[in-house]
Amino acid sequence: MPEELFNSTIAELSGLLDRGALSSVELMKAVIARTKAVDGRVRAFNSYDEEDAMAQARASDARRAKAKGSGSGAASRLEGIPVGIKDVISVAGQPLTASSRILEGFVSPYDATVTRKLKAAGAICWGRLNLDEFAMGSSTENSAFATTSNPWDLERVPGGSSGGSAAALAAGEAVATLGSDTGGSIRQPAALCSVVGLKPSYGRVSRYGLIAFASSLDQIGPFARSVEDAATVLGAIAGHDPRDSTSLRQEVPDYNRGVSDLAKSGRRWKLGIPREYFGEGLDPEVGAAVQAAIGEYRRMGCEVREVSLPHTKYAIGAYYIIATAECSSNLARFDGVRYGHRSKDAKDAIDLYFKTRAEGFGPEVKRRIILGTYVLSSGYYDAYYLRAQKVRTLIRRDFLDAYRDVDVIVTPTSPTPAFRKGEKAADPLAMYLNDIYTIGVNLAGLPGMSLPCGFTAGGLPIGLQLIGQPFKETELLAVASAYEQRTEWHLRRPRL
Ligand code: GLN
Repeated sequence: MPEELFNSTIAELSGLLDRGALSSVELMKAVIARTKAVDGRVRAFNSYDEEDAMAQARASDARRAKAKGSGSGAASRLEGIPVGIKDVISVAGQPLTASSRILEGFVSPYDATVTRKLKAAGAICWGRLNLDEFAMGSSTENSAFATTSNPWDLERVPGGSSGGSAAALAAGEAVATLGSDTGGSIRQPAALCSVVGLKPSYGRVSRYGLIAFASSLDQIGPFARSVEDAATVLGAIAGHDPRDSTSLRQEVPDYNRGVSDLAKSGRRWKLGIPREYFGEGLDPEVGAAVQAAIGEYRRMGCEVREVSLPHTKYAIGAYYIIATAECSSNLARFDGVRYGHRSKDAKDAIDLYFKTRAEGFGPEVKRRIILGTYVLSSGYYDAYYLRAQKVRTLIRRDFLDAYRDVDVIVTPTSPTPAFRKGEKAADPLAMYLNDIYTIGVNLAGLPGMSLPCGFTAGGLPIGLQLIGQPFKETELLAVASAYEQRTEWHLRRPRL
């Protein structure tokens, strides 16, 4: 039995659960105890419901006992595993806040499709994880409730917007977690907290029950302690859903089997290094770690070549037009009538909308609604929104051109390691620039992941980003797994 259950992988724990060496109740107790011991410092959770989690654990143990009695086949890998959920994904009967005052007191009436699927696979939905308000940000400092701390250095941010999901996992407060990624919100916090984070292709995972930020960019994906675990969770949540018309009708492969088949095949991967991703603004220690990882791939026999993504320089501009435009529309529903907070002293309906929104939304959300409303307003639509959409096409074309010569593109995930709390909070533009390497992937609808690839001299984690071709998550995971097998970065845990 591993000494620290709460720091183990799904693969290890499901083995113990299968052999009867561990019960889900014991595992859940260990995770709850760990959370109580460290979350006062990490502050990854907005809330958790201990009783509900223990009830789910007992139900899981009962299912196992019953399956054993009837001699039915092996349990799902996720049976009895506690998975933390970003507080922007619905879990029936649990609070759903998006880390915003405007949703204070709101309880989800139904499960998101990903939640329903996790439960169907036997997982325990555990806790509501902190984020930047409505997933707008890169540090969790925009949360209305608290800033999550980076478990590797409590003075620093965990990244964002899914900072709670990354920090909880790094701190041993869950065995895997879910996040959402609109411009990097899974990959960047994964990099800053030294865990694996995967944003699937646009259309791979249903967003039904996810609070929409920018609907043409949003995807839900897993955080995990290994590539194998990320593949397990992806397999459980992916697939077509009639309730999300953007989810594609494509069969979900067995990702873990696919990865091991590819490893056995000895396929020689062609990797592309975009020259635009290694220029100004890249921290030298991050650059060196990523170059070392590329060197590791070379030693494995991969073919490495330079590629060009020339429209990268317009990515941030296009993203902050498209994302704000879409959020200004998506957030119109928070009006004080239907959900959560309602202003107390409104004169009439219009006044109610204004006061509720003024009181309920934080400054970054307001900034984006104002920007988005402006770029969509008559006379400006063509100049901004339409042009941004054209740039988006060019960015996607850059990637697809590059994929004529290579299988996977390799870059840094974030230009810098975790920054100090407060360091960028006063300067929205500096914060936006942090997304430079992740945003293009969302604009192009591609799958991308971050995996641990080193530490700075000061002990801060560094992430390697791998970008795959549409719906080729298996290949992406295989390339990630090949690196992980040869390195030990993913085995390090922060001291808390
Ligand atoms: N940091 C980016 C933003 O602020 C991306 C956020 C996200 O992916 N949800 O919009």
